[in-house]
Amino acid sequence: MSIPVRQSARIGAYIFKQKITRTKKFPLIVELEPLFACNLKCVGCGKIQHPADTLRQRMPVEQAIGAIEECGAPMVSIAGGEPLMHPDIDVMVNELVKRKKFVYLCTNAVLLRKRIDRFDFKPSPYFAFVVHIDGLRERHDESVSKEGVFDEAIAAIRELQRRGFRVHTNSTFFNTDTPQTIIDVLDFLNDEVKVDQMMISPAYAYEKAPDQDHFLGVEETRELFRKSFADGRRKKWRLNHSPLFLDFLEGKVDYECTAWGIPSYSLFGWQRPCYLMSDGYAKTYKELVEDTDWSKYGRGRDDRCNNCMAHCGYEPTAVLATMGSLKESLRAVVEH
Ligand code: SF4
Ligand code: SF4
Repeated sequence: MSIPVRQSARIGAYIFKQKITRTKKFPLIVELEPLFACNLKCVGCGKIQHPADTLRQRMPVEQAIGAIEECGAPMVSIAGGEPLMHPDIDVMVNELVKRKKFVYLCTNAVLLRKRIDRFDFKPSPYFAFVVHIDGLRERHDESVSKEGVFDEAIAAIRELQRRGFRVHTNSTFFNTDTPQTIIDVLDFLNDEVKVDQMMISPAYAYEKAPDQDHFLGVEETRELFRKSFADGRRKKWRLNHSPLFLDFLEGKVDYECTAWGIPSYSLFGWQRPCYLMSDGYAKTYKELVEDTDWSKYGRGRDDRCNNCMAHCGYEPTAVLATMGSLKESLRAVVEH
């Protein structure tokens, strides 16, 4: 079984179990943030603006594992901050893999080649590095506000591939992007670097991000992705998204947000309502689900949601729609 098919089968079985136990709200993937500190200062980042004493904190491994076990999610995306600045990040990854969770370790890759031998990461079908690449050299270095980061990240990807790891990328697009800048970077990662899979996202306008001028509106996002995906490129690229989420990005379907499907757990607890907005924190996933008025959130209900088309809100809706339809389930397998 290929890795995406094995993973889809596991997720399908997990969703089926929620249906038969009549569990209405459940997590598909947790955005786990075991620290907020980072070695870069990207202008669009909403995570590194915390006070110095918060930036110094690291989440203990037991706390992270306890949160994932309590919520039961089958997938975990570890972000931050820069997870390679957490001294026990390999232990956290290995403990999650041991529990057969699919783990993505998101990194800007600047520290990767320097620190990889300090850590005990092992290649596994349950584990992939996800390297942040927003564009080709000039565009990416501008996005992370530092020269040389693109070249280092590509060198790190090649080193990980040499060591047998699965490598994905994650690219965020702003209104300074054009269909051509998106095509250029995704063609490069897909055809030349040959990463296993790629994730894409329109940038979300974090209230705390220093640069507020370059976030995309909904119509701009749809047009940008429609043009980028044209001429068979969407099918050619190994995108790690459900076909219905890609339909959503290019405006072929519209969905409501399902923020409880990709919840965020950080040093402060379970963030309400999602990874992108913080209206307080809950101690457990159960408390987050039960004590949040989910009807208040989403486009048209909260001004802060109006330009949001982010993966964490809309991919769960697309995945649930896929699993609810035999035709879409087959399409998801064929298009992987
Ligand atoms: S690499 Fe990620 S966490 Fe670090 S500043 Fe950039 S966006 Fe923020
Ligand atoms: S639309 Fe959903 S995912 Fe987006 S900011 Fe609002 S609550 Fe969060």
